[in-house]
Amino acid sequence: MTNEANPFESLQSQIDSAAVHLDVSADVLERLKRPERVLETNLTVEMDDGSIEVFEAFRSQFNGDRGPYKGGIRFHPGVTRDEVKALSGWMVYKTAVVDIPYGGGKGGVVIDPSEYSESELERVTRSFATELRPFIGVNKDIPAPDVNTGQREMNWIKDTYETLEDTTEPGVITGKAPDSGGSLGRVEATGRSTMLTAREAFDWLGRDIADATVAVQGYGNAGWIAAKLIQDLGADVVAVSDSSGAIHNPDGLDTRDVKAHKNETGGVAGYPEAAEEFGNDDLLTLDVDLLVPAALENAIDADLAVDVQADVIAEAANGPLTPGADEVLADTDTYVFPDILTNAGGVTVSYFEWVQNRQRFYWSEERVNDELEVIIVDAFEDLVAAYEDHDVETLREAAYVLAIQRVVDAFEESGTWP
Ligand code: NAD
Repeated sequence: MTNEANPFESLQSQIDSAAVHLDVSADVLERLKRPERVLETNLTVEMDDGSIEVFEAFRSQFNGDRGPYKGGIRFHPGVTRDEVKALSGWMVYKTAVVDIPYGGGKGGVVIDPSEYSESELERVTRSFATELRPFIGVNKDIPAPDVNTGQREMNWIKDTYETLEDTTEPGVITGKAPDSGGSLGRVEATGRSTMLTAREAFDWLGRDIADATVAVQGYGNAGWIAAKLIQDLGADVVAVSDSSGAIHNPDGLDTRDVKAHKNETGGVAGYPEAAEEFGNDDLLTLDVDLLVPAALENAIDADLAVDVQADVIAEAANGPLTPGADEVLADTDTYVFPDILTNAGGVTVSYFEWVQNRQRFYWSEERVNDELEVIIVDAFEDLVAAYEDHDVETLREAAYVLAIQRVVDAFEESGTWP
């Protein structure tokens, strides 16, 4: 994996190239390229042995023109201020593409969670929640899980917030366990929108996804669920990877069995039914019909893109292609379905969770999946319409055109506060 691009600069260049196709003034555009505010804090946390450690943490509130800021919190040693800013910007455009009433935000703590005990992680999370408390709220900013965080951390944040505020307000955070006000279907939502996007993409191209071969990079929440649901459509998932390595079987892998192996051993490497093990770059350049990058950003740079052979890329991860890779692939027959549509299932079911929390009325999983399908299929149709109606080179540009127009409309309809 290469990390050539600053993700915040990637975001800004994506906005610039889409804005060329829109009637938006330079000053409004400048506003859309910067976060409204960024909280930078240092969490002072007691370790199990009584020592004190300090963790850098960030929350970026990028744009709230269409509703409260919305976006995950990641725990990763590579978190930077610019990464958090970029991810919060992508959330603005993601919520706009699927047309749910939110702006965009994102948070991160610079930590490798594998090096800490559960009680230490709980204190880190509660410390961050305490710092976040004045900034978040059911109508202000609603965090959610991201890399290395999940229901456990969301429940801790909810409990910290509710204790400090002396209230019950589960809608202050989403991605909670169902017993704590979480929505059914949330865990599978990102993989499900990836599957729906891929299914619609093959349909749009006049092909049947049941005949497709598929490679999936990253076998965490987004990647493994996408692999399973795409396999359930009849496609052959021939290669998957995670940080332990990549495995390949041209006859197809049993995605559930690979997951069971990962649960047992900690990684996909060493899966006994794999025909071969190879590197992550081999997976990304495999001759498959569909490639699903579902790990971290900048997985494919311009050099690697030259060797990409997939016909369709469905970006389950956020920002897995650098702008250089986009440029290379724009001149090929590969269709790249951008992250802000493909992985929007997570934020869409977060939205359903927030709606259910506010209504104090909970939906069946079937209803959640049905409502998600409607939103993703509608957004897919809006996206390909934007692609066909504007003189854009890529589906990503089309997604930004669609999203930026929606944010600009909301901003301009509100007028300007002095
Ligand atoms: P996760 O932590 O559950 O999984 C990440 C996976 O990537 C793990 O299997 C890990 O081993 C693998 N990985 C890490 N480095 C790798 C490498 N160099 N090569 C191959 N695999 C590698 O995280 P997740 O929730 O699945 O998120 C993955 C991506 O999807 C992120 O970009 C995240 O922002 C995005 N995303 C997730 C959600 C969600 O709801 N989970 C929503 C929207 C976007």
